[in-house]
Amino acid sequence: MNRPRRALIVGCGIAAPVLAVALRRVGIAATIAEADPQPRDDAGVFLALAPNGLNVLKTLGMLEPVHGAGFPLAGMAFFNERGRRIGSIDFGDQQRLYGVESVVIRRGDLLRALRQSAVRQGVTIEFGRTLIDLDDAGAQVTAHFADGSQAQADLLIGCDGIRSRTRRLVFPEAPVPAYTGLVGRGGFVRATDIPPTGGFMHMTYGRQTFFGHITAPDGTIWWFDTVAQAQVPDRRPARTVDSRALLDAHRGEPAPISTILSAVSQPVDHIPIFDMPSLPAWHRGRVCLLGDAAHATSPHAGQGASMAMEDSVVLASCLGRADDTSAGFASYEGRRRERVEYLVREARRNGAQKFPGPVGKAVRDLLMPLFLRLGARALRATYGWRMDFEGDAWAG
Ligand SMILES: Cc1cc2nc3c(=O)[nH]c(=O)nc-3n(C[C@H](O)[C@H](O)[C@H](O)COP(=O)(O)OP(=O)(O)OC[C@H]3O[C@@H](n4cnc5c(N)ncnc54)[C@H](O)[C@@H]3O)c2cc1C
Repeated sequence: MNRPRRALIVGCGIAAPVLAVALRRVGIAATIAEADPQPRDDAGVFLALAPNGLNVLKTLGMLEPVHGAGFPLAGMAFFNERGRRIGSIDFGDQQRLYGVESVVIRRGDLLRALRQSAVRQGVTIEFGRTLIDLDDAGAQVTAHFADGSQAQADLLIGCDGIRSRTRRLVFPEAPVPAYTGLVGRGGFVRATDIPPTGGFMHMTYGRQTFFGHITAPDGTIWWFDTVAQAQVPDRRPARTVDSRALLDAHRGEPAPISTILSAVSQPVDHIPIFDMPSLPAWHRGRVCLLGDAAHATSPHAGQGASMAMEDSVVLASCLGRADDTSAGFASYEGRRRERVEYLVREARRNGAQKFPGPVGKAVRDLLMPLFLRLGARALRATYGWRMDFEGDAWAG
């Protein structure tokens, strides 16, 4: 295989626009093929983006629109089921430590900001193109789409998320996503009688639930919860819950929670949380996986989007240096696997720790400040990850 010049990226979620811009820096032109007929900028709830992901955007000239659409996350404050504050992490030193500050942003606004930024930098995005098959036998890889069209490229990167069709086509033997036993919900409400959180995400360990909320600069309350549910909820028809069911789940929990949930006016999605078991390989022939397609993580470490962004610059760097595609893919997988699989495990562990038994709760309430101090050290290794573009190559 020779040095690649043209890439086809399947899926236009969080990873694809970042990857396409990173590839252009090493002379690889990328086209993105997205299944949705048009952008779904109202889909999903919100994300917290960590400094390591934001530094990738900064180096690619994609940070400003993301900053413009979101707002800074000042830290996290933790409360127990009686509403007592048991600890907090202040992000006030992030600018000094990492050169950027964590951001909270609606998923749709993030997708729009990344997409528009990529298009401004010359990336082509085609909607309504659902990958259904691949042919990697000839001099190029050919993608077949549901509308009967085809596209050819020197390499194809599956950024098509946790249910990746690319993964199933290239690795039919690969494990399937694993249910974590948790479901998540979330949304946005106007509730004027909630004390502002001062830029902090307030996280409450309820009796059977975990609840987070933050006041946005416009006064809206952005909230999410996590509940344990042993059986994976039906995916079809899409499950939703209304305000009454949410209030039932959080009965007896501290005051702001019921006030926020009483203000929920529309049913919200009930999202089963899955992650990906370790895959035997991330690439085969001219095809490679990136982001959730390769290593989807549950959201409890707030790192899924940042991992996809880190992947993007590492893959671009590896392809830019390698003599051929296959060596570039191998180098990318070798450099990424340990870090991302560690974070997938950490996120699983964090999720499970949201629901301790009575002894676990007492220990948690007592030792939370210590846990947070120890955790802050581990966060530095995660948040401090950097890779810059120097001269005409990725440094690192
Ligand atoms: C409830 C929840 C909360 C989360 N919160 C956070 C958070 O706070 N911080 C954080 O960093 N991460 C968070 N994450 C994780 C984060 O959302 C993912 O890691 C991230 O979206 C991965 O990006 P991606 O581009 O790999 O996949 P996706 O964003 O899922 O994009 C995949 C794209 O591929 C398209 N596609 C699928 N199949 C095909 C096909 N056959 N042909 C063409 N296109 C196709 C899809 O339509 C989609 O646009 C959260 C995840 C969940 C579920």
